[in-house]
Amino acid sequence: MNFTLHLTENCNMDCSYCLRNKTPKDMSEEVMYKACDLAFSKGTIAGIVFFGGEPLLKKDLIYKALDYCEAKAEKTGIKFSCKMTTNGTLLDEEFLKRASKAGMKIGLSFDGMGQDISRRFPDGSSTFGILEEKAKLLLKYIPDSMAMLTLDPAACGLYSDSVKYLLSLGFREVSAVMAYGHKVTWTDADIEVFRRELDKTADFLRDEFITGNRYFVAPLINKIQECVRGKNPAEHCHLGVKQSSITPEGNIYPCTSFINDAEYYMGNVFEGFDKEQLASIAAKSNTPETCLDCDLKTRCTNSCGCANRMNTGSENKVSPLQCAYERTVIEIADRLGDELFRYNEEEFVKYFAR
Ligand code: SF4
Ligand code: SF4
Repeated sequence: MNFTLHLTENCNMDCSYCLRNKTPKDMSEEVMYKACDLAFSKGTIAGIVFFGGEPLLKKDLIYKALDYCEAKAEKTGIKFSCKMTTNGTLLDEEFLKRASKAGMKIGLSFDGMGQDISRRFPDGSSTFGILEEKAKLLLKYIPDSMAMLTLDPAACGLYSDSVKYLLSLGFREVSAVMAYGHKVTWTDADIEVFRRELDKTADFLRDEFITGNRYFVAPLINKIQECVRGKNPAEHCHLGVKQSSITPEGNIYPCTSFINDAEYYMGNVFEGFDKEQLASIAAKSNTPETCLDCDLKTRCTNSCGCANRMNTGSENKVSPLQCAYERTVIEIADRLGDELFRYNEEEFVKYFAR
C-alpha cells in the first residue's frame, strides 16, 4: 500500500489552477515516523510518496524519513519504495544524490511551453528558466524521472510542443492531466484545440516509434497498453484500498483530493484506520450509472472518484467534460495503436504487451 505524506501545506509557488489551501502547517517528526510505521505494517512493500504543498520545503524531514525507512526495511525484510512529486524549484545536488541512493522516483511538475502561463512564483515572476535547469539536473541524477504536465485550457494550444520540448530535455516519460476544479473553465472550443494537439502528439509518437524511440506519453501510450493487456483503467481508483493520504496532523484520507473532507476521514496515524469508514468509502467507487451501457466503459477512467466529485459533486457521476476528454483520448489512442500495429506487428506486441 502507498502512503502519501503531505509534509507541508505550504508552497513557494502560486499556480493559477492550484486547489491547495496553502497554510504554514507542516508535518511533525512524530507524525512522519508514525506514518512510516503504518506503511511498514501493511504487507510486504512499504510505499511512501513525499507530497505537499511543496515537499522540498521540508528536505530535512525527507532525509529523516529515508534514514528511518531504510533502517526499518533492513531490520524487517519489508521492501521500501519511495516517490516524490515536486515543483522542482528547490532541487539541488545534495538532495538528488540522497534521493538517487534511496531509489526515489521523482515526478517533476513542469508544464513545458505553458509553464509561465499557469505556474509562477507568488510575485508573478517566471519559473520557466529555473525549471529548465532543474529538469536537467534531475535527469543527471535520476534519469527515469517523469515530467508531469497539467493541461490548463489557456495553454492547451501548446500541448504537443510542450510534450516535444519535455522529451527533448531528456525525459522518457511525460504524463499530462487536465486541470480540474473551480479555477479553470473548459469550453467546447478548448476541447477541439486539445483534440488537434493530441492528434499532432500521436503523429509525433508514431514517427518516433518508427525511428526506434519509445517514449511513454500518458494519456496515449497507457491507453494502448491497457487495451492490449486487457486492463480496465477504471480499476486504478480504489478509494482508500491501495493508497492513502496523510495530512500534516496525521489524519488519513483516501487520496490527495479528499484531504480535510470529513466524509472521507479514515482514521489517523496514532489510532490506525477506522475499518467501518474504510469499507464504506471503498464501496463508493462504482461504475457511474450513466456509463453502464457505454461501449467504452472498460477503456475509460470514469471511476476516478476524486475527479468526479470535484467536477460533479458525486463520486459516481462523470462530468460532460471528463466524458468528452475520455472519448477524444480513446479515439486518438486507437488510431495511433492501429497505425503502429500495421507498421510492425511484432514490435507493437513487444512494446505494448510487455
Ligand atoms: S506547485 Fe503545486 S502546491 Fe504549489 S502552487 Fe503549484 S499546484 Fe499548488
Ligand atoms: S466515454 Fe463517457 S459515457 Fe462512456 S464510459 Fe467514459 S465517461 Fe462514461
